[in-house]
Amino acid sequence: MQDLKSLIRSIPDYPKPGIMFRDVTTLLGDPAGFRAAIEQMAAPYKNAGVQGVAGIEARGFILGGAIADKLGCGFVPFRKKGKLPWKTIGQEYTLEYGVDIIEMHEDAIDKGERILIVDDLIATGGTAEAAVKLVKRSGGVIVGATFIIDLPELGGMKKLAALGVKGHALMAFEGH
Ligand code: AMP
Repeated sequence: MQDLKSLIRSIPDYPKPGIMFRDVTTLLGDPAGFRAAIEQMAAPYKNAGVQGVAGIEARGFILGGAIADKLGCGFVPFRKKGKLPWKTIGQEYTLEYGVDIIEMHEDAIDKGERILIVDDLIATGGTAEAAVKLVKRSGGVIVGATFIIDLPELGGMKKLAALGVKGHALMAFEGH
C-alpha cells in the first residue's frame, strides 16, 4: 500500500498567498488509504472506553463518522454557527483575521461521557481548543484528539497539551 503521506495533495497559496493547503480529499478518495487512515486514527483509542466522537465540520465529519463506527460509539457534530436545528452552546475561537464560532447541541454530550475529538488537520490549534472547551462545558471527559496531519511549527499540539489533552496525528508537514 502507498505511504499515506504521499496521498496528501499540497496546494501552494490556497486559500491565500503564503498558505500551503494540505488537501486530504486525495487520501479520502483512495480506498486503501482511507481505510488505513481511519484504522490508524482510531487505533490508540480501541480500549479507551470512548463513548462519543466529536467531529469538527466539515472534514472532521467524514473521518469522525467512520471512526465512531470503528469504535462502536455515537457521533456528535461540531458545526459552524447557525447550522444546528436544536438549542446550542457555542465557543468562539480566533482565526488569523477575526473570530469564528463552533456550536454543538446543548444535550449532545452527557456528564462524564468520554469523548474523542476528530479533525483532519491541526495547525494553530484554535479550532481544536474551542472543541475542547465545548466538551468540557457540557461536562464531557476528553479522551484525546486525533488528526491526520499535524503542522508542528504552528504549535497546536502544545496548545492541546496545555489544556491537558493528548493529541495524536498520523503525519507532520513542515511550514504553514
Ligand atoms: P487551526 O485552528 O489553526 O488549528 O486550524 C485547523 C483547521 O483549519 C482545520 O479544520 C483544518 O482543516 C484547517 N486548516 C488550517 N490550516 C490548514 C492547511 N494548511 N491545510 C489544510 N487545512 C488547514
